[in-house]
Amino acid sequence: MAHVYDMVIIGGGPGGYSAALYAARAGLDVVVLEKLSAGGQMALTHQVDNYPGFSEGIDGFTLGMQMQEGAERFGAKTEYAEVESVDLLADPKQIHTSEGVFYGKSVVYAAGAGPRELGLSEEKELIGRGVNYCAACDGMFYKGKAVVVVGGGNSAVADALILSRIAERVILVHRRDSLRAEKVYDKALKEAENIEFRWNSAVSQLLHDQKVNGVKLRDVNSGEETVVACDGVFVSIGRKPNTALLQGQVDLDPQGYVEAGESCRTNIPGVFAVGDVRTKALRQIVTAAADGAVAVHYAVEYLAGLQ
Ligand code: NAP
Repeated sequence: MAHVYDMVIIGGGPGGYSAALYAARAGLDVVVLEKLSAGGQMALTHQVDNYPGFSEGIDGFTLGMQMQEGAERFGAKTEYAEVESVDLLADPKQIHTSEGVFYGKSVVYAAGAGPRELGLSEEKELIGRGVNYCAACDGMFYKGKAVVVVGGGNSAVADALILSRIAERVILVHRRDSLRAEKVYDKALKEAENIEFRWNSAVSQLLHDQKVNGVKLRDVNSGEETVVACDGVFVSIGRKPNTALLQGQVDLDPQGYVEAGESCRTNIPGVFAVGDVRTKALRQIVTAAADGAVAVHYAVEYLAGLQ
């Protein structure tokens, strides 16, 4: 007879490992299924300064490892497996993975979000040949070169700052005339002498031979097009939830986020969504970690037959 866990957690980011910590401390038999390594998107973050408790900040990879170790200290398990499909209506719930099927009385879905793409022709084909979605991961390939960063939020500004320390020239392209990023970045942006801004501009075409060698920009007001030569493009325009696996079973909103309120409960009893995958106002490490705790509170009630 296959082992049936009290809780299977899909995704080992801050939401997943917070749920694992609370579940293990509540005495549940819990496993985290993680594709790569702990931390999720957070692991790619160079410096985390807005998660309380670290007066000097901490890098996201280390924070992810510490969250994993903290949960495992109380008996949570981690299995490195890629989830291929789920049957959340089965009893027990079934998670089909590259490493076999996992069975759970309850499931916490914490698969996070991935980068949003510009949707340009040849964008996918040029990944690894000049198109990038993570400055902390791929910035080092652009030492002394010119790069375009697209976006105007915290990610775009943080990426531009990382790249300003590596590349010779950073061109930040934003579709409006002001940034959405928090004020905390203003001083560093002013001090970085190699960051230029192209306001009211959208990338209309990726130019390339074997690799990207420029972008065509369209002024969103006048429609005028200009060419900017560059060696790489970093797309930093937000994220999209990793919820394709749930389609047809779990209710999703029109943007693809799991419809789950502050209780993290989904439309399926015993299935919870935490972190960036669920509908919420603020997607941060601290809110993902809070979700993990809340989901376990309701999961314990569910497992006790109280829901
Ligand atoms: P975001 O805040 O949603 O910003 C996305 C940016 O991309 C916006 O400036 C948006 O333009 C632009 N954009 C969206 N779609 C576009 C398109 N198709 N073409 C061109 N531009 C497009 O996303 P984010 O910066 O990735 O941040 C996501 C979340 O993570 C936020 O909650 C953020 O606060 C958080 N985060 C926090 C930190 C930190 O605290 N240090 C660092 C990184 C991320 P408009 O402005 O015109 O909408």
